[in-house]
Amino acid sequence: MDYQSIHKESTVVDTHCDTLKCLFNEFTKPHDSMWKYRGDIGIGKRSSLGHLDVPRMIEGGVSCQVFAVSSERSRTPAFPLRTAIMMVERFHRECESIPQLEPVTSYEGIIDAKRRGKVSGMLSIEGADVIEGRIEMFGVFHRLGVRMVGLVHSLRNQLADGVTDRRTGGGLSELGVQAVEELDGLGMIIDISHLNDEGFWDVIEHTKNPVIASHSNARAVCGHPRNMTDEMIQALAENGGVMGMNFAPSFVHPVKATLGGVVDHIDYIINLVGPDHVGLGSDFDGIPYTPKGLEDVSRMPDITRELVKRGYEKETIMKTLGGNHLRLIREIAG
Ligand SMILES: [Zn+2]
Repeated sequence: MDYQSIHKESTVVDTHCDTLKCLFNEFTKPHDSMWKYRGDIGIGKRSSLGHLDVPRMIEGGVSCQVFAVSSERSRTPAFPLRTAIMMVERFHRECESIPQLEPVTSYEGIIDAKRRGKVSGMLSIEGADVIEGRIEMFGVFHRLGVRMVGLVHSLRNQLADGVTDRRTGGGLSELGVQAVEELDGLGMIIDISHLNDEGFWDVIEHTKNPVIASHSNARAVCGHPRNMTDEMIQALAENGGVMGMNFAPSFVHPVKATLGGVVDHIDYIINLVGPDHVGLGSDFDGIPYTPKGLEDVSRMPDITRELVKRGYEKETIMKTLGGNHLRLIREIAG
């Protein structure tokens, strides 16, 4: 079977992009290499700016894209909750105005959208600063359609120390542990990307659900603190979790990031823990530049081509492209 038909048959899921940020002035600055302002055009028209919009998603054969709602202190210090709610609203407005894009909150929703020839979008939170210290806010975000929550966005917040706050070796706070219990109860997937190692181990200890690392790679392949050690990957696998491969060049290869380099991480993880725990989490529109060969979301089929070239069976390829993420979504969010 050729790679194109495998890609077409697969329900491709990408568990992280920062595209919603590109729709807000708060995040985009003139001459910023990272976020190109596209608030006027939205994501319904094909653009040469940034990495992701609906026409390019369709070209790239992506069935479901998880869109992150986020509020970093460094960029939006004043109103994290308001910023997050405005991003949620903008996402739903985009879905209403783009006939090919459907908002989804479940496995069934993703499958049903694909069956009807549509692509889908799911909301996640990147950095629970947005609850402004009130656990009850997770329930509000659940009602608004959010199904995945990262406790931190690298910096320390009330719930945990992030990956750039490693000095004291702190993991989850008491509120962070409460958050884990609340998210488990609501059926929201806990995203461990951006936690420091201590926070990861605290989540694994306290959650009763499998976890996702929505956009993190293998530290043994590329020694970046945002990537996961072998022990962490093994614990994630034992917990039934899935990790989405991040395309950020500095997480892929210390010197030269390419599409092949991303697939090297997939190889490594499959060798370490088998084929059931790896997926895609591009970080498109959240990375300053992309690996060679993965210039934007339309290039996704080239990952499938590379997996075929490396001799993977169709079943393993389909799991990697989205099957594993779908299993996790079905198990936790329904
Ligand atoms: Zn991120």
